[in-house]
Amino acid sequence: MQKVTILGAGESGVGAALLAQKQGFEIWLSEKGNIQERYRKELIENNIPFEEGGHTWEKIQDADWIIKSPGIPDKVELIQQLLKLGKPVISEIEFASFYTDATIIGITGSNGKTTTTHLTYHLLKTGGLSVVMGGNVGKSFARILCEAPADVYVLELSSFQLDGIETFRPNISMILNITPDHLDRYDYQMSKYAASKFRITMNQTENDVFFYNAENEASLEGLDIHPIQAQKIGIKIPGMVFNLEGHDYSFDTTRLQGPHNRFNAACAITAAWLMDVAPEKIQAGLNSFSPVPHRMEWVRNFKGIEYINDSKATNVDAVFFALEAMTKPVVWIVGGQDKGNDYQPLITLVEEKVKAIICLGIDNEKIKETFSKLCKPIVEAASSAAAVYEATNQAQEGDVVLLSPACASFDLFKNYEDRGDQFKHEVLKL
Ligand code: ADP
Repeated sequence: MQKVTILGAGESGVGAALLAQKQGFEIWLSEKGNIQERYRKELIENNIPFEEGGHTWEKIQDADWIIKSPGIPDKVELIQQLLKLGKPVISEIEFASFYTDATIIGITGSNGKTTTTHLTYHLLKTGGLSVVMGGNVGKSFARILCEAPADVYVLELSSFQLDGIETFRPNISMILNITPDHLDRYDYQMSKYAASKFRITMNQTENDVFFYNAENEASLEGLDIHPIQAQKIGIKIPGMVFNLEGHDYSFDTTRLQGPHNRFNAACAITAAWLMDVAPEKIQAGLNSFSPVPHRMEWVRNFKGIEYINDSKATNVDAVFFALEAMTKPVVWIVGGQDKGNDYQPLITLVEEKVKAIICLGIDNEKIKETFSKLCKPIVEAASSAAAVYEATNQAQEGDVVLLSPACASFDLFKNYEDRGDQFKHEVLKL
């Protein structure tokens, strides 16, 4: 029996363990930190041997395969040692792909992955296909192969997941955009980060299709550098109508907000069309799609002020598109844990659209420094309640209060969902 070591007991590690067990491997799962209760329970119920709170080298290296969770960088000592021993170290996505011949739609990019994955899934599902979504959102690919086999898998893929693939080949791949994010993991080099995204195309053949963003500089540069066998389709931000092969798809009847979501939709529509979903069904699917929470999520209109939760905007580019989509004066709630942000690309939009800035973070110096020259009110808040209170004070009828932080949430919140939920809770209490 072949032995496999799984490193990490999050969704992808546990999913890989379940699939490995189903495939008859002898498994050892090792987690450096603490395992979440629901995953520990699942491992025990399935008789999967594991350790937590540290790694036992003897057991880990005694394997034919190592499956690594995407959160573990290649440069850590443990992985380097395993590679030195000649052990194949692969990602859960790679491992799972060995066990299916179904059609795979792989979606990556710096922003828009989750939205586009949900929308593509929704259009295929309402179009009548047997389809499941997962990967970096919801259930891991390995888990869905165990629990919910289907004809088509729509997978959200992070660059960390793509770093660990060797033969994984999506039939349709998408790079939605490449803008600075996670650069700490890529030696602060955009070219390395972009190369990681382009791995999604590396095993595609001329029978496959690759969508790229025809208006994104780093994506266009990547096209010149990376040899791509797949048929390439360049997608641009459409207006309120997207025309594809003589058919008009309208956004007027949908709840998709802003140009960036029309771009995401253009990608999803094109994928559904390639999968033979009829245009009328695609339009019906667009009309029935509900935006994913924490992404430009409309919360409430209170005394003529609209409140929008865009807590998932954890980088500058996402905020750029959020502000661009705004048609009313904005009270902007921004801040949190800075990931080395350069706020300069936002200056013009903030000058034009923002009437007051509420900083929601522990250290707000960089934001204050960057935007103080615009001479707009800047107020600091150390909790969601304070931020909503201050924002409501600054706003008047006809304005929008937009939570679009450009930063990670870990200074004041558990995660971006917690930040968004607290914001919504405070807004609904008004
Ligand atoms: P991801 O899964 O890549 O993080 P999400 O769909 O969760 O993407 O959206 C993250 C943030 O990026 C949200 O603030 C959202 O409004 C914004 N966003 C969504 N699509 C795009 C896009 N195509 N370009 C730029 N920003 C986007």
